[in-house]
Amino acid sequence: MNEKAALSLDLGGTNVRVVAVTESGKILSRQHSPTGSTSAGEIYDEIARLAERCKEEAGVFEFAAFGAAIPTTTIGDNGELAHLPNIPQLEGTDISRELGLRTGLKIVAVNDASAATLGEHWLGASKGALNAVGITLGTGVGGGLIVDRRLYVGTGGGAGEIGHIRLVPGGRPCGCGGKGCLEQYCSATAIVRSAGEIGLAAGTARDVFDLAASGNAAATAIFSEMGSYLGLGLSIVNNLFSPDIIVLGGGVASGWEQFFPATEAALYENSLPDRRSRVKIVRALLGDDAGVLGAAKYTFQQL
Ligand SMILES: [Zn+2]
Repeated sequence: MNEKAALSLDLGGTNVRVVAVTESGKILSRQHSPTGSTSAGEIYDEIARLAERCKEEAGVFEFAAFGAAIPTTTIGDNGELAHLPNIPQLEGTDISRELGLRTGLKIVAVNDASAATLGEHWLGASKGALNAVGITLGTGVGGGLIVDRRLYVGTGGGAGEIGHIRLVPGGRPCGCGGKGCLEQYCSATAIVRSAGEIGLAAGTARDVFDLAASGNAAATAIFSEMGSYLGLGLSIVNNLFSPDIIVLGGGVASGWEQFFPATEAALYENSLPDRRSRVKIVRALLGDDAGVLGAAKYTFQQL
């Protein structure tokens, strides 16, 4: 094979996934295992094992580097990780050193939502756009920015934290230490919380969606409120960055029909007049592969 290939990691709170990807975006092999609540050393050992298995399955002799999509707001210049609420045992560890020692590869770490945004821009819903924004609506809310066709990561690698736009002064407390963040109104966790506050029996956001889809007025109102908050957040992003396209991914995006009419209305109402109708809002196309593909693309760009 003449094409370069890289390994790519998606380090999630639930699963660790490693894939081998070519420079044109073909996934050659995939491996995954549960993240577990083991020590940092054991997690890094497991990632190295998955990488080794991926290497065997892909039949690739040599990889150019190892990309890593990490759920953190800050990645130090040398790969030190800070603030990982979902995998706290890795806080303060140096992923470049730990995985570099175990695999012999150069490690390129990037925020997971930034990676997903770049993945969608490379091969998915915002392919070819000049300026794009990606938003992941999951357990939390992540975001990423494509500016002039390049991923913009900002100083410290944490740009695009759309989930922590303060929408409601003095509102719901957030894991970041602030109050009223968008994430507290638009994530799966927030939907379940809203349901609990009005005594609706729902263990997951999917349960609330099913209730709404079957005509339950209280559940419908929860999605409509969530959609309005999201639209207000998107209007801030739209006014600030004037993107061509905003891509919505993550599990909550599958509730689109319940929340999107309110999102569109709030986006229109709060955007500057010249860009009310210009920005396109679309659903992500790559699902769980967006992060690993984006981390791989970012890695190829750093070589
Ligand atoms: Zn926050």
